Amino acid sequence: MSNEMKVRFWGVRGSHPTPGAGTVKFGGNTASVEVQAGNRTIILDAGTGIIPLGRELARTKQAGEILLLLSHMHHDHTQGFPFFVPAYMPNAKLHIFGPDGTHESMKNVLERNQSSETFPVGLRDMSSSKDIQAVRESQVIVWDETGVRVAESASGLGEEAVVIRIHKSYAHPGGVYIYRITWHGKSVVYATDTEGYVGTDKRLVKFAKDADVLIHDAQYLEEHYWGQLEGFPATQGFGHSTVMMACEVARASEAGQLVLFHHDPAYSDDMIAGMEATAKAQFGDSVAAYEGLEIVLREENMSVQLQSPASNGRDVQYAQNG
Ligand SMILES: [Zn+2]
Ligand SMILES: [Zn+2]
Repeated sequence: MSNEMKVRFWGVRGSHPTPGAGTVKFGGNTASVEVQAGNRTIILDAGTGIIPLGRELARTKQAGEILLLLSHMHHDHTQGFPFFVPAYMPNAKLHIFGPDGTHESMKNVLERNQSSETFPVGLRDMSSSKDIQAVRESQVIVWDETGVRVAESASGLGEEAVVIRIHKSYAHPGGVYIYRITWHGKSVVYATDTEGYVGTDKRLVKFAKDADVLIHDAQYLEEHYWGQLEGFPATQGFGHSTVMMACEVARASEAGQLVLFHHDPAYSDDMIAGMEATAKAQFGDSVAAYEGLEIVLREENMSVQLQSPASNGRDVQYAQNG
């Protein structure tokens, strides 16, 4: 098996999908990121980006075993699931892990999203086999040769095991899970829907320390956050970060690559390109996530490359050592 870990972005937008001419470059689908660890498929969140990803998995891998990690149950992180093709395939086995809500279990929320009042097909009527489990921050998710399981510790596991740690952040309404996926010494941290703190989020910095890739919420321009952008009310306390907050976490945790994520639905491609430039001035290895962005992690080096240049007209290709 190849030791290559690939991170592909299928949905990078926050709050709600944004089709239209002003968002074609970065894309309008809501949160969904694919991580391939060798031949294991891990998906972070089920926003509308999971819909094209599902078609691709059905076509290329006949679905098989898939681990879906939900950061929290807000719409923009779950609304693509009813249209996720592998969920309808009898030969697919889905492990769906995430947090329980404060009032309701994760499973109940997923069932309610597909109640007969709101969707024609119920969760139980989707043909795949589904293992739906709420996990706790103290637990680890392991995927090794024996399969996917929730464990109390990661001790004694070899490099072949994919190990996923959980950090519960309170910097978002209702809380959110931040995940750290580690395999063969490389790690990817997915920190969406989280707001920065004065002096930086120290718990998050510790959790994300030395990650090769840090995917961080960067929904707002500074002026927007503070209520100084015309037509945009202040958003402090909404549970999302500014570009500066994302850069602070990347710098303090010494991340290899920062990926700005969860773009505001009201922002045009030009605005996001400007935010990317701001980020690069603060933290050189920054990129604003766009649909089709692919990051390849190899043991000896890391490269960031565009998966399909035709899809959005961008041409980003560079590599780093170390
Ligand atoms: Zn969100
Ligand atoms: Zn949210």
